[in-house]
Amino acid sequence: MPSNNPALERFLHAAADAVGRHADEVAALDQAIGDGDHVTNLLRGLEALRLGVSQWEPLDWPATLQKVGMTLMSTIGGASGSLYGTLFIAMSKAMRDKALSAAAWAEAFAQGVEAVKQRGRSDLGEKTMLDVLIPVARAWQDAVERRQETETMRYAIDQAAESGCESTRDMVAGKGRASFLGERSRGHLDPGARSSQLMIQAITRAIDDGI
Ligand code: ADP
Ligand code: MG
Repeated sequence: MPSNNPALERFLHAAADAVGRHADEVAALDQAIGDGDHVTNLLRGLEALRLGVSQWEPLDWPATLQKVGMTLMSTIGGASGSLYGTLFIAMSKAMRDKALSAAAWAEAFAQGVEAVKQRGRSDLGEKTMLDVLIPVARAWQDAVERRQETETMRYAIDQAAESGCESTRDMVAGKGRASFLGERSRGHLDPGARSSQLMIQAITRAIDDGI
């Protein structure tokens, strides 16, 4: 399998840039319903990936995804660190011995999201990052099954991420720190849902046909 660094660097740069530009907004969301550290945690993880990526040059995608997951797990901390880490480690397992087809990527992401559900003991409707990740996984697989063009697929994924994030606003949190607030968690977007949406949209924009 070929080395993937240029694509990974592009995705990372895009994701870090998007989160960085919205840092105040995401921090405010976690201040409202959490402990305020989500964006700093995440930016620390993205910076660690930026430093790590040059050393992963010879690795294929499954090994790189494993490094990404381990790095996120050890540098982000908090609830989101183990969840984002789990996502990539499960994707790594799913990509082993697979051709790099659009269908394999969509399936690997779906398996990653499944692993996050198990790790977080959480599901759709609990005001977490899963309210973005689950609809995105569905939209991605659906787009692949319909053999949609990259541009159409990108639009479907962006829409799923956006409406998934927005759906968290009126939810009462069922998991994580925000759940301690009960009814008072209603009326704010979930910070992990917003950061997931920002990264997913940044990455879909950075995808070209060659991945
Ligand atoms: P912490 O809550 O430990 O400070 P972060 O602030 O980094 O961690 O991340 C909080 C985000 O993690 C939440 O906004 C939510 O999206 C996500 N999250 C927390 N607990 C869970 C869970 N059990 N399942 C899925 N996502 C969760
Ligand atoms: Mg927090």
